[in-house]
Amino acid sequence: MNQLPDKLINFIQGMPKAEIHIHLEGAIQPETVLKLAKRHKKLDTLPSDNAEGLRRWFTFTDFPHFVEIYLTIQDLIRTADDFALLVYENGADMAAQNIRYREITVTPYTHTDYQDKGLSIDDVLRGLEDGRSQAKKEFGVEIRWVFDVPRNFCFDNGRYDHTIAEKTLDYALQGKDVGVVGFGLGGNEVGCPPEPFAPAFEKAKANGLLSVPHAGETVGPASVWGSLNALQADRIGHGVRAIEDPGLLATLKVQQIPLEINPTSNACLNVFASLDAHPFRQLDDRGLFVTVNSDDPPLFNTSLVQEYTVLAQHFGYDAAGLARIARNAFVAAGVKPRVKTKLLKEFDAWVAQNR
Ligand SMILES: [Zn+2]
Repeated sequence: MNQLPDKLINFIQGMPKAEIHIHLEGAIQPETVLKLAKRHKKLDTLPSDNAEGLRRWFTFTDFPHFVEIYLTIQDLIRTADDFALLVYENGADMAAQNIRYREITVTPYTHTDYQDKGLSIDDVLRGLEDGRSQAKKEFGVEIRWVFDVPRNFCFDNGRYDHTIAEKTLDYALQGKDVGVVGFGLGGNEVGCPPEPFAPAFEKAKANGLLSVPHAGETVGPASVWGSLNALQADRIGHGVRAIEDPGLLATLKVQQIPLEINPTSNACLNVFASLDAHPFRQLDDRGLFVTVNSDDPPLFNTSLVQEYTVLAQHFGYDAAGLARIARNAFVAAGVKPRVKTKLLKEFDAWVAQNR
């Protein structure tokens, strides 16, 4: 790992960026966790009553610990106002990193159905929209949503239950006028193949949503093949284990399917042994369509700026290389053409001035 010149550090920070793979709950900062815990008088459910202590608790150790944090956060999000706060804080973080566009994944089922919090999909949509419009007004940032199906809730002893995917799709379609642009599939891939979800994804696409499943993270090429063939994926969340299958690499290259790659997340979850062992550069050098993202940034002690820094430090990218990858994220975004064109114009003008 090498120290980067100040000029490149400033370039990474200043460059207008887009991020297309990040989870709303996984992007929450310790300060916001505290606000929610106080709001709901649930401070006793946290291991610390200050942000520093929570930040230490957030430090990634292993997957069970990661899940414990996720569930604790989940339990603190209880009202429309909570969603609005989460989104507003997310917008502030975007502004601080010069992220102009974010496509944020939300898993409505876990809030509206899985736990009885008395939250309806109307509450969720209203909270998201309140936060989104506040963030746009105050920070000038664009936010869109991916609603995803928690795949591991959909199988009982290997038997597929279609109701959760259908419910999530119904929620996503209700949210189309307030920023939902994609339909996703998240959670642990092991034992939860994509194929049974085909009917829901077909409907989602017929209704103008992008198909953006997670695949090729905890399961290898089979999961990516299934996402391409059965779910007609427009992008793949992660997709990095395509590196194990030359035929799949060729298909992804020919079709230029964007991969939403999250290097630090992959290293933390041991998809690859270390950042240096991560195939990001190989996938790019082979001509695949790559983007870089932060997944669950505070939980992996990262940020989007940090992920671009990783690309420079571990894979030797210079400013031109980073700008090419950054542009890909705008191109792959699910936002309507009018907004996309505007964002790309702004991006291109900045890069032309700062190369
Ligand atoms: Zn993810």
